[in-house]
Amino acid sequence: MLIRKHIPYRLRTLTLILGSLFFLNLPAYGLESESEKPDQGPRIVCEHCGKPIYAKYVRSDNRFFHPHCFKCDRCDQVIATAYKADGNRFFHAACFKEMKGLVCDHCGQLLDETWTVYQGKKYHPECFKKGVQPRCALCGMTISGDYTEDAEGRYHMACYKARKLPRCSVCDHPIEGNYIQDVWGHISHDSHKGKHYTLCSSCSIIISDKTSKGSFEYSDGRVICGICRESAVFHMAVAEELLMEVTQILLAKGLSPLPAGITVSLVDLKTLMNKAGTLRKSTKGLTKISTNTIGSFKLYSRTDIYILHGLPRTEFRGVLAHELLHVLLDAWGVFMSEEETEGFCNLGSRLVYQNDPSSLAKILLDNLEIDPDPVYGEGYRRMLKKLTANGWENLLIEVRNQ
Ligand SMILES: [Zn+2]
Ligand SMILES: [Zn+2]
Ligand SMILES: [Zn+2]
Ligand SMILES: [Zn+2]
Ligand SMILES: [Zn+2]
Ligand SMILES: [Zn+2]
Ligand SMILES: [Zn+2]
Repeated sequence: MLIRKHIPYRLRTLTLILGSLFFLNLPAYGLESESEKPDQGPRIVCEHCGKPIYAKYVRSDNRFFHPHCFKCDRCDQVIATAYKADGNRFFHAACFKEMKGLVCDHCGQLLDETWTVYQGKKYHPECFKKGVQPRCALCGMTISGDYTEDAEGRYHMACYKARKLPRCSVCDHPIEGNYIQDVWGHISHDSHKGKHYTLCSSCSIIISDKTSKGSFEYSDGRVICGICRESAVFHMAVAEELLMEVTQILLAKGLSPLPAGITVSLVDLKTLMNKAGTLRKSTKGLTKISTNTIGSFKLYSRTDIYILHGLPRTEFRGVLAHELLHVLLDAWGVFMSEEETEGFCNLGSRLVYQNDPSSLAKILLDNLEIDPDPVYGEGYRRMLKKLTANGWENLLIEVRNQ
């Protein structure tokens, strides 16, 4: 089981700033009164040329100009329309905008009185709407508020949630926040855990009607999925048949001879735990060999293999192969460390899983490979390294000479 925190999107907000230029002034024209002129002389003087103004003037605040002296500081042409005053300088509106770089970043034309600022660039509001404003890659409409994005584009939050977020295998709603992923590739909301389903104790699938054909709970508390249950082993006759099959697979690799008179029993979890005397949670099988001797004389020997009832066939075969290798090591009189022993026995499980075309066999094989257990997992990887390097024949020679 893997628990992941899913961060499906980054919430972003599109901020549009409305830029605004300034107050544009219009030249104010006036006419100097002729009547006051003879005695008092002209009352106003042109700010530009310093000469008196006798007739028409242009006024900007308290400053007066001959109309032909009221010129743009940038192009030196007379200003007769909207202008911008900047300290002692005056500009045509267009010249001022050019000077200040107030052009639309989309069409290259001068901006009007107001414009839209987006990501530090300025646009005509029209140009922004038509050519710049981001559009939802799903519905094609412009985005003006919250949005999210990925490598393929930006999206309205609602569009993203409805069409882009992964869907829960159990309830089919989009997944935000925590989710669970099983080894089969299903994902589901974390919140379902423990309420409507758990994971299958055999194949680790997320249990639901959709993913696993439902589930069954055994009397010992184990929950198994509907798919695993279809091939679950409950009867001794089936166990005997599988014992024959697995024995043949082992025999083909030189893993023989197994002693006669092996008894396989199907038990519940509690019985298995009692017999094992430990609480290793993943224990599914156990081998007990009792030998009575008088001195060096073997009076009798009895081999009992206990396996959990209700395991799917594929897993049952894997567990059985593991236990049979314990029997074999005993018959050979081989004593290795616990890690080496369990690792070697797991090679038996590997063998039957490799002989099994089902997807469950593939999953169980993967589980062996990634088992973090220091005895079963580490031991398996150590023995597998030897097997891969030397082959079965040489590995068996090495093991038997321990
Ligand atoms: Zn003048
Ligand atoms: Zn100008
Ligand atoms: Zn434009
Ligand atoms: Zn959309
Ligand atoms: Zn769900
Ligand atoms: Zn299952
Ligand atoms: Zn074992």
